[in-house]
Amino acid sequence: MRVLVVEDEQRVASFVARSLREKAWAVDIAGTGAEALEAARRADYDLILLDLRLPDLDGLEVCRRLRQEGIETAILMLTARGMVEERVRGLDAGADDYLTKPFALAELHARIRALGRRGLGRGVVLRFADLTLDRRRRAVERGGQPVALTQKEFALLEFLLVRAPETVGRSEIVEHVWDAQFDSGSNLVEVYINRLRQKLDQGHAVKLLHTVRGVGYRLGLEP
Ligand code: CA
Repeated sequence: MRVLVVEDEQRVASFVARSLREKAWAVDIAGTGAEALEAARRADYDLILLDLRLPDLDGLEVCRRLRQEGIETAILMLTARGMVEERVRGLDAGADDYLTKPFALAELHARIRALGRRGLGRGVVLRFADLTLDRRRRAVERGGQPVALTQKEFALLEFLLVRAPETVGRSEIVEHVWDAQFDSGSNLVEVYINRLRQKLDQGHAVKLLHTVRGVGYRLGLEP
């Protein structure tokens, strides 16, 4: 899942970004409303975390413009405590949910998970054949046996599962699993696919992760 954090206070932005990256989410940061609009037009985010108080456009205006432009990405707005009116205006402007500052990271993560699920349209546990991925426990099992994955491998598998049995292209994978720092000339996607394939399929008669030559990758019971 890829998240855009819109926050002008650098300390808060990098603290939040770090905590999200630890959860295997790909994160970009925008420090102004204008930067946020630009980023959201450029990449297909799964969620935007939007602070209301920004130095140029305020969060409400950013929200309104995104919706006017037909960008339907889930928006979680950060507001000041006690500002009921602000929250109501945020929701009216098209935000999906809000969180008051200061917040506990655990609550932020839970709200993001819930909104991400809504956006990606699936439940807490994703399944395909004898493979399960539990988003809350961040646990993967195949045939009842735990499969240990790194954060990035987990994020990659989550995206493939959400889209299964469809084939997903390399550029789509990059867009949802990596952040803006990704070097498009690198072979990281191939490297991670290979590692994931080893961990999921090694020792199993039925292979689940397949390469569709010239198109991308997919989960399926047959090659
Ligand atoms: Ca701010």
